[in-house]
Amino acid sequence: MRILLAASEVAPFAKTGGLADVAGALPKALAKLGHDVRVVLPRYRMVDAAKHRLRPVLDSLPVPVAGRTEIAALWQGEIGPVPVSFVQHDGYYNREALYQAKDGDYPDNAERFAFFSRAVLELSRALEWIPDVYHCNDWQTGLIPTYLRTTLQGAREFQAAGVLFTIHNLGYQGLFGPEALAAANLGNELFNPFGIEFYGKVNLLKAGMVFADLINTVSRKYSQEIQTEEFGHGLEGVLRARAKDLHGILNGIDYDEWHPGRDSFIAARFSQDDLAGKAACKADLQRAFGLPERADVPLLAVISRLASQKGMDLVAETLDAMPDLDAQFVLLGTGDAALHQAFETARARHGSRIGLMLGFDVGLSHKIEAGADMFLMPSRYEPCGLNQMYSLAYGTVPIVRATGGLEDTIQPFDPATGEGNGFKFAGTTAEALLDTLRAAVALYRRPEEWRRLMRNGMACDFSWDRSAREYEALYQQIAARRTGKP
Ligand code: ADP
Repeated sequence: MRILLAASEVAPFAKTGGLADVAGALPKALAKLGHDVRVVLPRYRMVDAAKHRLRPVLDSLPVPVAGRTEIAALWQGEIGPVPVSFVQHDGYYNREALYQAKDGDYPDNAERFAFFSRAVLELSRALEWIPDVYHCNDWQTGLIPTYLRTTLQGAREFQAAGVLFTIHNLGYQGLFGPEALAAANLGNELFNPFGIEFYGKVNLLKAGMVFADLINTVSRKYSQEIQTEEFGHGLEGVLRARAKDLHGILNGIDYDEWHPGRDSFIAARFSQDDLAGKAACKADLQRAFGLPERADVPLLAVISRLASQKGMDLVAETLDAMPDLDAQFVLLGTGDAALHQAFETARARHGSRIGLMLGFDVGLSHKIEAGADMFLMPSRYEPCGLNQMYSLAYGTVPIVRATGGLEDTIQPFDPATGEGNGFKFAGTTAEALLDTLRAAVALYRRPEEWRRLMRNGMACDFSWDRSAREYEALYQQIAARRTGKP
């Protein structure tokens, strides 16, 4: 089949979170299954054109937006065998960051991603490559199905094109004032609860959910949770109305990028059968964070956006217990200023126990996965989560809250049977997390059982192959609906 995957970030070109990892890896797995796949993303300043050997393919693509026509240029690169198109428009994308400046979201985000969405459709017309399925991701691409089913409804070339819309995080909805309708070249007739209106605002995530043929999210558990008030962010009704079309497909992980046996970022390679290199990675990590090089202490780690979604406030609250636990803690992350402050305060108190890197650093994230003993993910909600799976691959034991993809991927270790790959807890309090940390540290002091637990994790297989087959089944279902052929 012909699949066009559109996303606002794609690894290794531009990344702020898990969406980029998915958009960079799934297309390769689909190509392996024999599909004709292409990927499209904006050409941000962050995209290194020389490093990725981008070539110009089209210098003038007219794109209607905000009541006028803006011109895009197209560049091409690839991920392995998969062609990747970059939509260039310097006014929109040649900026410091992807979505926001220091003082908040870019004010023209609705227009920037309306332009991107329409450009995806215009470039497939211009290049005469209309896919069977547009695979759209998150609010930034919610207008692709909207245009297909409204503005471009009569266009013959798009008649058979279907849409799968993937929700990577329901907490980010692309909410804008009513003026976003004009920015997106859409009429007021869509501004109602059955369209893209949401409590007086334009909601681009809802737009994607309303107009796509099928919807999915990135774990089975999260696909159920988001139909409830607790996890639905106000969209649970819309999701329940489309329950028959709503699926959950767990993300895979890209073992080309995340593999302790061939990772070029880490100090020493290791495997399930030979864990010696992990000790060298631990010492290297302790050095990188200026912590005492002690092999005997459990080294706890976090790599995360610093946000309440991720339960980072709970983590900050447990840090005074590090001396009692005789543990060390390292964190790589950026986000809420209040959380930066909370972690800084904890480090000021326990400098020999706590190491911080308040930034974004892909190389360091690999060193952490390789060198840490335990990885903390006490998320309040977690659509899928990738780091718990990366942790498993590197023999780093995940300690997670039982929600979403964390629930689907982590089974508590049972010393009686030797089964299980991590620790899991239910509450949303620092005490619940701390109790679990105590249990984990106690098990760490029993090296044989701990090694069993590490190896159980390393034996898990979350490769994309299986998930790609599940996506393939959804694409086929969509194509059958669109063409009326089973
Ligand atoms: P989310 O997309 O909600 O932030 P995920 O667990 O799905 O969470 O994916 C996060 C991805 O971003 C992972 O690949 C993680 O390693 C990476 N990441 C998060 N914060 C940082 C950081 N500060 N530096 C480097 N990588 C990071």
